[in-house]
Amino acid sequence: MSNFSRWIPGSPRTVSGKTDDVVIVGAGLAGLSAAMRLAGAGRKVTVIERESIPGGRAGRISDRGFEFDTGPTVLTMPDLIADAFDCLGENMNDWLTLEPVAPLYRAFYQDGSVLDVHSDTTAMAAEIEKVIGASEADGYLKYVDFVTDLYKYEMKNFIDRNIDSPLDLLSMDLVRLIKLGGFRKLAPKVGQYLKDDRTQRVFSFQSMYAGLSPYDALAIYAVIAYMDSVAGVFAPKGGMHALPVAMAKAAEKHGVTFKYDTEVTKVRMNGNRAVGVETSNGEFFAADVVVLNPDLPVAYRDLLGKEPWSVKRLKYSPSCYLLLAGSSAKYDHIAHHNIHFGHSWAGVFEELIDKKQLMSDPSVLVTNPTFSDPGLAPDGKQVYYVLFPTPNLDADIDWKKQAPAYRDHAIETLQARGYTGFGDSIEVEHITTPQDWSDRGMERGAPFAAAHSFLQTGPFRPGNMFGENVVFTGSGTQPGVGVPMVLVSGRLAAERITGPDKNYKSRARR
Ligand SMILES: Cc1cc2nc3c(=O)[nH]c(=O)nc-3n(C[C@H](O)[C@H](O)[C@H](O)COP(=O)(O)OP(=O)(O)OC[C@H]3O[C@@H](n4cnc5c(N)ncnc54)[C@H](O)[C@@H]3O)c2cc1C
Repeated sequence: MSNFSRWIPGSPRTVSGKTDDVVIVGAGLAGLSAAMRLAGAGRKVTVIERESIPGGRAGRISDRGFEFDTGPTVLTMPDLIADAFDCLGENMNDWLTLEPVAPLYRAFYQDGSVLDVHSDTTAMAAEIEKVIGASEADGYLKYVDFVTDLYKYEMKNFIDRNIDSPLDLLSMDLVRLIKLGGFRKLAPKVGQYLKDDRTQRVFSFQSMYAGLSPYDALAIYAVIAYMDSVAGVFAPKGGMHALPVAMAKAAEKHGVTFKYDTEVTKVRMNGNRAVGVETSNGEFFAADVVVLNPDLPVAYRDLLGKEPWSVKRLKYSPSCYLLLAGSSAKYDHIAHHNIHFGHSWAGVFEELIDKKQLMSDPSVLVTNPTFSDPGLAPDGKQVYYVLFPTPNLDADIDWKKQAPAYRDHAIETLQARGYTGFGDSIEVEHITTPQDWSDRGMERGAPFAAAHSFLQTGPFRPGNMFGENVVFTGSGTQPGVGVPMVLVSGRLAAERITGPDKNYKSRARR
């Protein structure tokens, strides 16, 4: 199927032929990251987006003075954002104000204890010593060394580059990762350092972002814990949606054309070569290269008319039920991000992933963006973002029927976890169920994409090239899900087009 211009072992492949005019389908964070880099490297870029705004999953609902972010809320690794601006010769700080979130999370447990998670290791060790004890704090410091090493060995060789073959992974860093125990299971590895159930949960729940239980995930996924719990969590002023807005504006300043409210229906192919894209209003946009940011399995099926085995075989992450509430109630016991653990832990994953059932004893994320930025709601009002993990659409749940009952359950759960009068204080609400994620173009209603099991990660995750000149970007391809990963994915897509000798504006500026 592939027919690329050059592939020297060890050097990543690139598209063949002319690459002057690039059409990017989708202004999600991955599409925007690719657009910024390609514009910085001198390409003529057109981004075609079916919504009226950029951001995709990092979208925005504005309703009666409340500003709701519709997807990601935990922003980590701002260096990756800065790098995209740098490719345009721009300074991220001129476009976006990022405030550190402190504490990163507040974790609430059923025994009544509360643990604040800090990225400052001294502050975190002091918190663990206060809430749990000195030897646990000592274990935490050793755990930080472990995840810091993991990050060091994983980022350069396994995440931040195009991988064409499993053989590309053979390196000293692979040996170092094996020696560190990166290919053992996450839960026992975390248990090697942390003995208390509360710290174990706080430093392993992140595997859920990768679609796996900590009992099934490999320890290399502790790198996600590094990204937030060690490197820090940030809140953009104006909410998360300020990020794609800033990226799109900077791209536009550097010549990228955005066509909003325009749905692409097909990539037009001539043999193995894309010649452009067709839209639902009958327009055709010619292109030398087409970059596809929609969810990869959907892009294959709907835009390329293909369903390769490598995509058909994929297993998907759990989904979520999201309640966005504009409220008159304020809760003084909470922080910006709050995790309310149930009694059950292994049982949560067993229900969601193995049994494909709703959680009987939920663990819930509640984000209160107005904690950091009161401007996101009318005076004195609050925004709450409440996320209940659920199975994806592989489960036998009819969300059209189930949604009202689940809303009652969500509100009862919140009220039982200290959000007194939550239901009665809601003034505006928006709900997203797994069926809604599916209707928005996410395969199996799984907004966290294909799970990051070993055989769906790195070179085993669907690659980012098709035919001679189609490139995928986003959470469905390599390296994977989450804001940091899709920003990297945009860069990897751009490098499939520009090759490693890109001549970004920032370089010309130096
Ligand atoms: C509820 C939720 C919470 C999350 N929490 C976090 C978090 O806290 N931290 C974190 O790091 N990550 C989080 N994530 C994951 C993160 O948001 C995603 O991995 C990332 O935003 C995906 O970006 P993307 O560019 O791959 O895809 P998308 O954002 O889905 O972008 C794809 C774009 O393509 C457009 N499109 C699709 N089809 C067409 C078409 N035919 N024609 C034109 N345009 C089209 C879409 O409208 C969209 O704009 C969360 C996700 C969700 C949903």
